[in-house]
Amino acid sequence: MHDRLSDDLARLPQLLAQTSGYAADLLSGLEERPVAVPPAPRARRELPAEGKGLAGALEEFRQHWEPGFSGSAGPRYLGFVTGGATPAALVGDWLTAVLDQNPVSGLDSAAPDLEREVIGWLRELFGLGEAHSGAFVSGATASNLVGLAIAREWLGEQAGVEVSEAGAGALGPVTVLSGTPHSSVCKALSMLGLGRNALQTVPTLPGREAVDPDALEEALAALQGRPAIVVANAGTVNTGDFDDLRAIAALRERHPLWLHVDAAFGAFAALSPSHAHLVEGLDEADSVCVDLHKWGNVPYDSAVQFTRRRDLQIRVFRNSAAYLGRPTETPDLIHLTPENSRRLRALAAWFSLTAYGRDGHREIVERNMATARALGDRLSADPRWRLLAPVRLNVVCFTVADDPAPGRIDHIVKTVASGGDLFVTPTVLNGTPALRAAFSNWRTTPDHLDRIVSALNAAL
Ligand SMILES: *Cc1c(COP(=O)(O)O)cnc(C)c1O
Repeated sequence: MHDRLSDDLARLPQLLAQTSGYAADLLSGLEERPVAVPPAPRARRELPAEGKGLAGALEEFRQHWEPGFSGSAGPRYLGFVTGGATPAALVGDWLTAVLDQNPVSGLDSAAPDLEREVIGWLRELFGLGEAHSGAFVSGATASNLVGLAIAREWLGEQAGVEVSEAGAGALGPVTVLSGTPHSSVCKALSMLGLGRNALQTVPTLPGREAVDPDALEEALAALQGRPAIVVANAGTVNTGDFDDLRAIAALRERHPLWLHVDAAFGAFAALSPSHAHLVEGLDEADSVCVDLHKWGNVPYDSAVQFTRRRDLQIRVFRNSAAYLGRPTETPDLIHLTPENSRRLRALAAWFSLTAYGRDGHREIVERNMATARALGDRLSADPRWRLLAPVRLNVVCFTVADDPAPGRIDHIVKTVASGGDLFVTPTVLNGTPALRAAFSNWRTTPDHLDRIVSALNAAL
């Protein structure tokens, strides 16, 4: 064994304790760490010929890279829809690497069953029934990809071809209808060989990002019986708006359609009795996308996909080889998603759900929504700011009251980011340049609002 490796092996318990102390310092420093760090150019380092050992690598990381890292795990990072990692999720993630299981085949460990258990818990959490089966993927983009791949196979079934065998070319023109789709849906269509042009956006309700069900029905009628994929949105990134899932599902009585719901973060509305109505009808979807590394507050690289048509899913993702299990009633996970070998993604979620339960996660969701509403109230009470949509969920979409030119918004975003107290991201809503603040971190409390509002006002 290489000297450095055998040294590290001999001192492993000590090195882990040292790393754990460092991690604890990083976490307790999160409140004060700059929320965003504008990237500075840095000199490239040579590939080490002789390694420094773990302690040397840790020291080098600490000096060279760590100062350039943002406080995105902390409470005042409101960009995108970024969650943090609960203490239990963090430990679950560490142990994922410690045990280094490959859960895709059921030949050597209970890891796949743990993953199935967590899928069952999540199904219950989001109000899905037994007819939905699911699997872990790396993020909502991958989840949308898997859902739309199953939809593509369903389109083939309607046309009497197996797309998984014959290829997407066998389908002819494909129509995907959606009101306010997330950009990852276009990426998925490109990857699937359906093409970005397959997407046809449907008008939304006045002043909303939710699709107009009548306009959707008209678009379906125009297809004259040709089956379509409908991507419904449960939680849009700009304003946290929801399509009427029940109304869309009811359209299946008159038009052949596959209903895919992108509920990346909106599915978590199901945890709150006051907001659960927003996702009524989710169970009727043919496929559902939910992110866990956003509002689920587990570390990155975690999302789930659900579908009612596991048979079609297996047709698409089947990976048969003599040394791997065959798809059966309880198929090995290798036959469900794009990856073959992968980490035991479910463990972080298992730890967090086991440690805090449905109630703990409901509390995070409700506190984030209350904090978002409180920010919305403060901004609407200030004549310098203008709210662009009511705060429906956990996202506040707002702009300056006078002349929100793109340059002005960019200036505010940059000024806020360089101040280190807050991070928000820019957007454009119905042509109006705007800012969005998304609350999804378990650490954020209403006590953080003073600093958040001061940072915004100072950037005006
Ligand atoms: C974030 C998001 C995605 C993409 O999720 P990733 O985890 O970044 O892949 C898709 N849809 C919606 C609605 C989102 O908010």
